[in-house]
Amino acid sequence: MTNAHQTPRTPDIGATVLGYPRIGPKRELKRALEGYWSGRTELDELLGVGERLRERSWRELAGAGLDSVPGNTFSLYDHVLDTAVLLDAVPPRFRELALSDVDTYFAMARGRDDAQPLEMTKWFDTNYHYLVPELGPDTALRLAGDKPVAEFTEALRHGITTRPVVLGPVSFLLLAKPAPDAPAGFAPLSLLDDVLAAYAKLLSALAAAGADWVQLDEPALVADRSAAELTALRQAYERLGGQPGRPNLLVASYFGELGPALPVIADTPVEAIGVDLVSAPETAEQIAGLSSLRHKTVVAGVVDGRNVWRTNLRDALSTCATLLGSVGRVAVSTSCSLLHVPYDASAETSIDPAVRPRLAFARQKVDEVALLGRALSAGASGEFASASRQANEAFSEVRRDERVRQRIDALRPEDARRPDYRERAEAQRSRLDLPPLATTTIGSFPQTGDIRRARADLRAGRIDDAEYRNRMGAEIERVIRLQEDIGLDVLVHGEPERNDMVQYFAEHLDGFAATEHGWVQSYGSRCVRPPILHGDVSRPAPMTVPWSEFAQSLSEKPVKGMLTGPVTILAWSFVRDDQPLAVTARQVALALRDEVADLERAGIGVIQVDEPALRELLPLRERDRREYLDWAVESFRLATAGVSAATQIHTHLCYSEFGDVIEAIDGLDADVTTIEAARSRMEVLADLREIGFRRGVGPGVYDIHSPRVPDERGVEELLRLAADAVPAERLWANPDCGLKTRGYHEVEPALRNMVLAARNARA
Ligand code: GLN
Ligand code: ZN
Repeated sequence: MTNAHQTPRTPDIGATVLGYPRIGPKRELKRALEGYWSGRTELDELLGVGERLRERSWRELAGAGLDSVPGNTFSLYDHVLDTAVLLDAVPPRFRELALSDVDTYFAMARGRDDAQPLEMTKWFDTNYHYLVPELGPDTALRLAGDKPVAEFTEALRHGITTRPVVLGPVSFLLLAKPAPDAPAGFAPLSLLDDVLAAYAKLLSALAAAGADWVQLDEPALVADRSAAELTALRQAYERLGGQPGRPNLLVASYFGELGPALPVIADTPVEAIGVDLVSAPETAEQIAGLSSLRHKTVVAGVVDGRNVWRTNLRDALSTCATLLGSVGRVAVSTSCSLLHVPYDASAETSIDPAVRPRLAFARQKVDEVALLGRALSAGASGEFASASRQANEAFSEVRRDERVRQRIDALRPEDARRPDYRERAEAQRSRLDLPPLATTTIGSFPQTGDIRRARADLRAGRIDDAEYRNRMGAEIERVIRLQEDIGLDVLVHGEPERNDMVQYFAEHLDGFAATEHGWVQSYGSRCVRPPILHGDVSRPAPMTVPWSEFAQSLSEKPVKGMLTGPVTILAWSFVRDDQPLAVTARQVALALRDEVADLERAGIGVIQVDEPALRELLPLRERDRREYLDWAVESFRLATAGVSAATQIHTHLCYSEFGDVIEAIDGLDADVTTIEAARSRMEVLADLREIGFRRGVGPGVYDIHSPRVPDERGVEELLRLAADAVPAERLWANPDCGLKTRGYHEVEPALRNMVLAARNARA
């Protein structure tokens, strides 16, 4: 067994990364998982794929020259779920299924007919989603698994000593939620003692297996934490740190600054603390002022783990060098796990050649870290000088578009302001002549096999552009006819031409590039390929106008134009880091403003700008929120305020718990806001009323996430509930989100029932 105090020969962390992608460079794990879930392949095959992927990552990381290779970064679905299962936090409804361990695990992740899955939610402000552990006073937490130990031993068999990475005990509890049957007021943090006992056992097991370092991730500490939570933090690491015979401990944080949590951890007997110096460079000063760090290792996250750009190596090295004077040792690392970037930029052979030399994905970032590690310990070499020169040269070419710059400089406050709402409401009433409780949908209709085939055929060159447009046109016509038949009041074109609500716009805007292989895990087997926003953004040509114009030509009823808002476009792309996000948002907003103007000119009287990601980008710390919400709201208004009073602007948000963003939603100043409220039985309307929200609202009268077809009576009841809070002229009847993931056999009867319910409620 090793112990820091008895074994001075313990290796330094040196150069490392906090974590690595796990889905496979060719999404091998995705395919293996889906094969197993569908019953096409045996479990052994899935486990074999996992084993090969792990070996490959370990060899890659060790071969690249990292001094310390992270372990336990693999997961069959999600690392928070892994931790829950490791600690035996398996809710009774899954135990009752009496499945094998691995099938219990997948049941918790994906649910079954007879058991709701764990809730899934965003991993901090990233696009990764984790499964939320459910804990109650009866949850008997204990060490029930050995995944971190087994993977450590497995790596050792390949001759590689890894540093197992485990979600830390405090973050585990803070990310959990009370089980459905827990008494009111139950706080998962009250289980701290049990959790610590389990972690203590785990640390012993890892030490016995030969681990000299263990990384405990505590990202929850970069959000605002109460005094009680900080006390729990201190208790946790005093206890774990005081355990005899344990491995060295690295407590890693990321996605922001530790703030008041830093001195707390620094005072505990852990050996190393990981800090994110990319998102919180100011942490360097805080570190310099803490004498408790004099004998500890600071793992300096200087290579951005969340974005795709090459590192400015000289700056990164000097950040590390500055720390040298005030702490025991400095190790070089990524700002967070590389889970959030794609594998390998060198696979992107057909990306815009102006962008390619600027890119660094996971593989390249590992090389950067290793190079920085060598430079830090041995001084900058010729190799270092040439790499940093290359990086700087690549960035000297960032595309500037002076016309975009001038337009932004010339913006006036009134460009983001529309006429008074009353004037708009009046003008829209006479233009659109809609009934009270007007019915509409959120935009997309089911993406059928035919639609997907047409897109694939176009990509493969089996059909030409004209044929593709024909097929999409036929689909739009079908969707319009269907909506007319159902009797909806405001129609949509159905978005058949969109693969994805952000990618579609990125493909049509200048300043964006698409990758071929740049997949990033979103959750489980689901991956996304975020566009890369690399230069000044502008719109070379209309993006949606021909589709909307065509759709409108088919009907006397208004057909809504459909756009994705600036914040959502940024949230689901890799963005530039050489200018404030607020500036980039304004550029995207202006491009959308042009599209909105062209839609209006083409006779489109209702235009929806979706902002489902508005809340996602909300900064983790309260004090940063005002500024964010100001620019987020401003960019939406810039995009939409160019139209006349008679043009009706809608927005759609994919949630109903507005909490911290409710005022911002009011600030968007949309004429109609559609939200999710079916599941919360319209409670959100009371919140809106409370803040004096006076414009149109579509609270979502049925839940599209469920395959259940709502009956007329149920919808009518919800509409009546809603009408108690909002006058019928301002109230809309709509499903609570887009319909693209549903089938027509569900959508058609559901919409018919919704329209009937609205008619009844009107009467
Ligand atoms: N207009 C989009 C759709 O209907 C909105 C999707 C969303 O809310 N995420 O699909
Ligand atoms: Zn939605």
